[in-house]
Amino acid sequence: MKTLYSKFVWMTLLIMFASGTIGFMIVNTFYHQNLKEKNDEKNVEVANAIVELIESSNLNSIESLLQTIGDTGYQIYIVSEDGEESFYGGDFRAREISDSIVKKVLNGEVYHGMREFPKETFITGYFSNELTNTVGIPFTYEDKSYALFQRPNIKFLFNEIHLLLGGLAGAMIFISVIAMLIVAKRMIDPLTKLTIATNKIANEDFQVPILVNQRDEIGQLADSFRNMVKQLEASDRYKKDFIARVSHDFQTPLLNIQGYAALLESGDLNGNYAEIIQKEAKRLSGLMKQLLLLTSFDQANTRTKKELFQLDDQLKQVVLKFRWLLDEKDISIQLHLKKVEVLGDREMLEYVWENLISNAIKYNYSPGEIQVEMTETTEYVQVIIEDTGIGNKNTDYGQWTERFYREDAARSTQIEGSGLGLAIVKEVIQSHNGVLSFENVEPHGTKVCVQLQKM
Ligand code: ATP
Ligand code: MG
Repeated sequence: MKTLYSKFVWMTLLIMFASGTIGFMIVNTFYHQNLKEKNDEKNVEVANAIVELIESSNLNSIESLLQTIGDTGYQIYIVSEDGEESFYGGDFRAREISDSIVKKVLNGEVYHGMREFPKETFITGYFSNELTNTVGIPFTYEDKSYALFQRPNIKFLFNEIHLLLGGLAGAMIFISVIAMLIVAKRMIDPLTKLTIATNKIANEDFQVPILVNQRDEIGQLADSFRNMVKQLEASDRYKKDFIARVSHDFQTPLLNIQGYAALLESGDLNGNYAEIIQKEAKRLSGLMKQLLLLTSFDQANTRTKKELFQLDDQLKQVVLKFRWLLDEKDISIQLHLKKVEVLGDREMLEYVWENLISNAIKYNYSPGEIQVEMTETTEYVQVIIEDTGIGNKNTDYGQWTERFYREDAARSTQIEGSGLGLAIVKEVIQSHNGVLSFENVEPHGTKVCVQLQKM
């Protein structure tokens, strides 16, 4: 596997190598452009000094003098008009020089080999230890013409300063590489930790500690990661609870159906078992309908079949459906409606009124009252359903719209219901960009307010 770590290492080495090469090319070009000519001039001066020394001294042999000069750091080539050659100081890597150059110098011209040295990016100028990379001047000694070519001995130039600078560069490179290895490892470690954590979370282990605490992008990533784990865990718990609740709510009516069917089968026709079975089956199918509605909201592609329709007609029809229940519980209902058209999902909104009015009946006293009122502005219409029922003991109505939530009073009084109704109502209102709110009514009762946009 190509790890991030090995990539880091290779990249650093590559960058160091590339920067070294490019650096060399820049310095070399600078030498060719700017320093070459000055270097040539300087070396002509040195050559002149050597020649002056030779001509002014009356030694019987210049050998030892040139030897000494060679030893102090110059590479010298001497050729006489007769073609006698001699070398002093360090050796040249390439000793070739054309006869025409030698002839020209013997004839009194100065040779500027350093200045004229070919300019090429990859050919080292200053360091090139070739006989052509020299300066040449003529001199006479004992009535004989000579040509003297010289260049500084590169080996002598690498003195302590250069060793120190070289050592410094080497140490810097070495320390940077080591430091980079450590830093890269420290930077990549948290990523490795996150990967391990991800794998555990994929196996539904939400208790993994994510031990990454730093104040940078990786730290932020770890924070979002922790957040995500929290949400995943919550949604996992919710999903499991939901399934448990649903299974439980299905189990009771199913067991009832089974039991009463068995009684029927055994020929016991004493009770109205068929009626009970029918009622339980209806409960089941109602629950199923609610669950399907809820899941349809959970899936992002919520169906929105919006159409224009008369809201007041819809409310009247819903109330009609509850006629017999209202009579049975001795609850009077008053409608104050207006002719209002809204744009919405007719079926879903019908469910909203059904549940709100059924709640107002179920959680009402007998006898009791219900008021259904409509107000409108140019933009929205408000439907208020107010009852004189048991109300809410605390001011927090948030729980009412939670899935499966039912007040203890609702449970203990054996009032039928799954606790899904208001959860669905909330989803429907939200999908219509409406507002749902609850209010306490004195001395007892609840006021439910639904605000819908007209268009
Ligand atoms: P269903 O799914 O059949 O509607 P439900 O009526 O119990 O069951 P919701 O309509 O979601 O469920 O209501 C949730 C809970 O809120 C109820 O169980 C009840 O405790 C409380 N509640 C809702 N409306 C009223 C009301 N008008 N007065 C008093 N309590 C209410
Ligand atoms: Mg309800």
